[in-house]
Amino acid sequence: MEAERTHVSRAMSHVRHLAETIGPRGSTSAQEREASEYVRGVLDGLGLSPRVQPFTSAVSAWRPYALAVALAILAVAIYPIGGRVTAAIASVLVAAALVSALLEMNFTANPLRWLLPKGRSQNVIAVVPPAGEVKRRAVLVGHLDTHRTPFLFGSVARLRLFGILSPAGFGGMAGLVGLFAAGAVWQEPALYYASLAPTAVLLLMLPMIVEPDFTPYTAGANDNATGAAVALALTQRLKEAPLSNTEVWTVHTGCEEVGCYGADAFLREHRERLDGASFITIDTVGGPGSGPCYLTREGTTKRYHSDPGLITLAGEIAAERPELGAYAKAMTLPAYTEGAIGIKYGLPSITFVNFRPDGVLPNWHRPDDTVEHIDADVLARSEEFVWELLCRIDAR
Ligand SMILES: [Zn+2]
Repeated sequence: MEAERTHVSRAMSHVRHLAETIGPRGSTSAQEREASEYVRGVLDGLGLSPRVQPFTSAVSAWRPYALAVALAILAVAIYPIGGRVTAAIASVLVAAALVSALLEMNFTANPLRWLLPKGRSQNVIAVVPPAGEVKRRAVLVGHLDTHRTPFLFGSVARLRLFGILSPAGFGGMAGLVGLFAAGAVWQEPALYYASLAPTAVLLLMLPMIVEPDFTPYTAGANDNATGAAVALALTQRLKEAPLSNTEVWTVHTGCEEVGCYGADAFLREHRERLDGASFITIDTVGGPGSGPCYLTREGTTKRYHSDPGLITLAGEIAAERPELGAYAKAMTLPAYTEGAIGIKYGLPSITFVNFRPDGVLPNWHRPDDTVEHIDADVLARSEEFVWELLCRIDAR
């Protein structure tokens, strides 16, 4: 019990340091770097010789989509200028914007990224060796950066609107591609009039996806000081009580909130050494009314499935330790976690994101994502659950 309390207070003190002492930690910002220096200091103190991995990243999650929508609207203006030629140009332009946006949603290089500004960020990587011979590896991932506070995240109703607008936007752009391609062949005025309906949807969307970049960053107590803190507290625990045969890598990433650039940079460099490693993402795990919640899948345009073996293991823990209050969920929102990157690189992955049982992620990307809204008991149960998972991976 005494030991348990130590772990809890450690994680809570990391949360406080990240979210209060440092505060908002925008992707590629000086505060994000300060957070990475804090983590490096703690790991250094453990004698783990952490490594800092620098990388280049986008600076906004929203700009690629704002640019894609703006290009589609531009195509609507180009279409009627010069008959078949401009109709064909308009169709190609929207198609390129649509394909790029879909690639962006799936963490893949695309022309929108080439056009937009970049910044520098960093991961902090440490490796905790096991007591015995290395037979398995596991990776704990927690991001240090925080999101902005968009209007669309301001209430549950607005988030629902976002859930509708996002596929409507993609559908609208696909509609424009078809109508404009047909117009390049038939030059039928009705085709242009029909294109004004999807255009109206895009015009409604544009201000809502431009607005986020004009809002302040959140302190990110829940998203994701909690996940980073749990990964850090678990590293301290692993150092004191190493696993038998599992080498554990901890990665405190930068730039998750703008498209998982940190996790991607990490796996691009280390994927080969980590073949078969369990990739465990910890993101937003301290909201009141939530339990440890592990994802079975995520992704909208493409599905990213958690590893069936790890889901089974987590299910066993949930059943055998009901006091932890854990449950599984599928994430169906147009959002992502770094778990998708583990899956993209072919690693057996599982992600912890504490959605409440009613599907709400407390204080997500909002100004009130502050330390006073963190439930220390939820945080402690989440940490204990991941610890138990690591022990069972080690015992396999
Ligand atoms: Zn997050």
